[in-house]
Amino acid sequence: MKERGLLIVLSGPSGVGKGTVRKAIFSQNTDFEYSISMTTRKPREGEVDGVDYFFKTREEFEQLIKEEGLLEWAEFVGNYYGTPVEYVEKTLSEGKDVFLEIEVQGALQVRKAFPEGLFIFLMPPSLSELKNRIVTRGTETQDIINNRMAAAKEEIEMMDAYDYVVENDQVDLACARIRAIVTAEHCRRDRI
Ligand code: 5GP
Repeated sequence: MKERGLLIVLSGPSGVGKGTVRKAIFSQNTDFEYSISMTTRKPREGEVDGVDYFFKTREEFEQLIKEEGLLEWAEFVGNYYGTPVEYVEKTLSEGKDVFLEIEVQGALQVRKAFPEGLFIFLMPPSLSELKNRIVTRGTETQDIINNRMAAAKEEIEMMDAYDYVVENDQVDLACARIRAIVTAEHCRRDRI
């Protein structure tokens, strides 16, 4: 058995479809465990506490930062998002792979703490397509759309810090590429 699991980080600009791709990956059998994030954002319709996120108040979240309970965290468009460190450490030490789906600032922090992690950048086919996706999601106000587009342009410049870039032209193709990358990475790393 592997001694320690692989930390897989899927990141990329807001609206690129990270959440959709991640859900599609986990709707099939996978060998990796999903790390549920914490956020101070209000739940969207249909989102469930403890499934989509652990929804927290700003006070609770700031307390966790103080206690060093987060592997990484970021403030993104007015809300905090972060990865609980305990779950990640425990699961990796059991030899299981852990999958994070996080924005770019957080991914860069994880890169420092886990340089040996597998970092995958999900790329939109184009910026106009990205805007289209943020707008058609229909859950955001115009101000939030503008802020998310501005953040996305900056985030795309960070692509070179990742091991792989995957285009999200079609969800099933993006999923297949990510699975292939994880498989290849194990073949490369798990030599006796
Ligand atoms: P949303 O509000 O659309 O669910 O998420 C906004 C952004 O936060 C997305 O880019 C999502 O990937 C990112 N995100 C979700 N969880 C985390 C986390 O634990 N840490 C960081 N840094 N970003 C996260």
